[in-house]
Amino acid sequence: MGNHLEGNHSSGVGHSGRTGSNGLCGMKRNISLIVVHCTATRVDIDFTQKDLLRCHRLKGMSMVGYHFYIRKDGYIWSTRPLEREGAHARGYNRESIGIAYEGGLDAKGLPADTRTEKQKYSLRALIRTLKKDFPGCRVCGHRDLSPDVNGNGVVEQAEWLKQCPCFDVAGDEWCS
Ligand SMILES: [Zn+2]
Repeated sequence: MGNHLEGNHSSGVGHSGRTGSNGLCGMKRNISLIVVHCTATRVDIDFTQKDLLRCHRLKGMSMVGYHFYIRKDGYIWSTRPLEREGAHARGYNRESIGIAYEGGLDAKGLPADTRTEKQKYSLRALIRTLKKDFPGCRVCGHRDLSPDVNGNGVVEQAEWLKQCPCFDVAGDEWCS
């Protein structure tokens, strides 16, 4: 995992932003949300961190929009400093951390929970660590941020703008 989780021990001098509200010294963003994504790539295709970077550069970004990227082998890549606002969930980037896992489509190109056991393990370990650093933050899937069209307080399947991340994030054990 990236050493910025425990790094960046600056005093905050010279910064006007709020400090100290999170567990990290010098962290200038207030984190209230962790958003899980998939790359929407086929499970039988390798999508490297270089591919991801190239893809996001084509969208005009200087670096990957997510903060972490979890490959099929379970390796967690730190793709963006946590201090920097992400570019992954419109309207929610300021106060969130974005994590993407490699996959999300089956071999036919249909949305599916394609996470390997190693990806599941890494995702849990990463989210548990982040929840210690940012206590009380909510964990959700990208699709759960779709508008609640009928206003019943629940973003239902019919309201999802997209399938990402192709599994029920809120139903997983890190939310308990
Ligand atoms: Zn997404």
